[in-house]
Amino acid sequence: MEVHSSAAAAVAVLTAVFALGLLPVTAAEASIASYWFAGFGVALAVFASLLLHELAHAAVARRYGVGTRRVVLWLLGGAAEQDTPAPTPLADAVIAVAGPLASAALGVTSWAVALVMAPLLSPTALAALLWLGTANLAWAVFVLLPGAPLDGGRILRALVWSRTRDRHHGDRTARRGGRALGVLLLSAGAAVVILFGQFVGVWFAVAGWALWAPRTITSAETGPDAVPRSRSRGDIPARRGSPTRGRDPAPARQQPPHEGEPGCHVHTASTRRSWSVSTTRRRPCAPSGGRH
Ligand SMILES: [Zn+2]
Repeated sequence: MEVHSSAAAAVAVLTAVFALGLLPVTAAEASIASYWFAGFGVALAVFASLLLHELAHAAVARRYGVGTRRVVLWLLGGAAEQDTPAPTPLADAVIAVAGPLASAALGVTSWAVALVMAPLLSPTALAALLWLGTANLAWAVFVLLPGAPLDGGRILRALVWSRTRDRHHGDRTARRGGRALGVLLLSAGAAVVILFGQFVGVWFAVAGWALWAPRTITSAETGPDAVPRSRSRGDIPARRGSPTRGRDPAPARQQPPHEGEPGCHVHTASTRRSWSVSTTRRRPCAPSGGRH
């Protein structure tokens, strides 16, 4: 597992959003210190939830013989880089839906615990638990939006792949969906900030920008899920010989690197321009990390 440095910024922003905005509204008349303490706790719990979301992707992928190279937490969520593409459209869709299902389960569980424990909890703790549930449910819905590299984009790809028997056609469709979503989110986020003065709109705007940003690979082998991958000088072309290779019947992985090919959620954090390999810098996915 890898925690990208940008995750710290996300925890800080989330803490502020909860402590200054959401918790005081939900649990009035508590101390400022309790808001910040609970806000920090919810922010950490949200990221722990994101990790479970990604681990759900990885666990289901493993059942289909697809290994997970690394799980990354970063500014806009998490991602699970996989070694190889899913062998079938059905596997692709099932792996994709595992994450949102896990988030939804966490959300419902948080709400259930909050309701059962309500008499024993302080108003701030109760509000924190309810917001944790809400955050997980909202995340489950958000990542199901039909655009790469979100889970919904991967499901869309699987549907198109199944219908056309062309995985790359599915990739292109999911990519177009991602760009359209990016424009919508960017606009909506800006509107929320400008018209309503809500800082949370910045997150939507940043997420929209990230979806809209040009890229050529949207393999969506991961979750929300473009990996914030720092370019490493140690990156090398993909080796043919991952532990799962022998179990993956997909012939495409024997081919040269191609748009949408194996688990290459490559986010060039150094440039911040692209979420993946550009057409001029196309490279195969580099196995930079071991399993975690
Ligand atoms: Zn996901």
